Amino acid sequence: MNQTTPIYIGLWREGRVRVYATDTRSIVQTITNHHHTTALASAALGRTVTVGAMMGAMLKEGSKLTIKIDGNGPLGLMIVDATSEGGVRGFITHPDVNLPLKSNGKLDVGRGVGRGTLSVTKSLSLKQNYATQVQLQSGEIGDDFSFFFLKSEQTPSVVAVGVLVGVDHSIAQSGGWIIQLMPDATEEDFQMVENSVKTMPQPTTLLEHMSIKEGLNSLLDGIQWIDQKVAYEYCTCSTERFINGIATLNNDEIEEMIREGGCDIHCEFCGKKYHLTEDHLKQSLAIKSENN
Ligand code: ZN
Repeated sequence: MNQTTPIYIGLWREGRVRVYATDTRSIVQTITNHHHTTALASAALGRTVTVGAMMGAMLKEGSKLTIKIDGNGPLGLMIVDATSEGGVRGFITHPDVNLPLKSNGKLDVGRGVGRGTLSVTKSLSLKQNYATQVQLQSGEIGDDFSFFFLKSEQTPSVVAVGVLVGVDHSIAQSGGWIIQLMPDATEEDFQMVENSVKTMPQPTTLLEHMSIKEGLNSLLDGIQWIDQKVAYEYCTCSTERFINGIATLNNDEIEEMIREGGCDIHCEFCGKKYHLTEDHLKQSLAIKSENN
């Protein structure tokens, strides 16, 4: 297992408010390294990875989810997979895109992502998939997931995620929190969350001064930490998976690759390179004929 990132789970207001918090600097650094991202792409993908890691911690054991952000913006499609055990991986179509900073000096993640759709598919067992989709609200990721939790899961939530990219393009800070009002939350709980949120700094500002837990301890007076899970960078790619993937191509295409003596492929999530030999490609053809 790669280096792990803790995901802290806390209760506030006698359990009527649930809190997830994490410092994702190391995992976001690893995932953005795979894609050689610009600062803008690091921020967009890093924010989504941070939400994905916390959503993975919300899943029942043995489940996984896929977040797809298809904003039609210059960054293209973003995909983040997360498992209940903490595995997280990410993909972005155009990691090389840069845009001018906003007038406040911040990265223009909203414009980079665009205003298309956010969808989440949960696989709770091998045969049960639940997919839900909402419109992106700002493309800034945090707001979009707040809207997602309210509309798709009927859970009023505050999602704050941030990534601070250093001048050398490394990830200086990354993390965030999700604050959720449970079904038994009272009017006063809503008011308390709203008031607290008004005084909360950006996650990256907080992380520059203290740990994520210390920060939330001071912002949510009386929070009780009840559980801790982990997130880590993972990938599911393998030669076997690529052999199966190739089997979805046309016979002509596969035969062409056999004539060329094999093919080189790289994983779009982790960047790992694979060489498929003539034998591997013949296996693809065999799988293809079995399936027909
Ligand atoms: Zn991979």
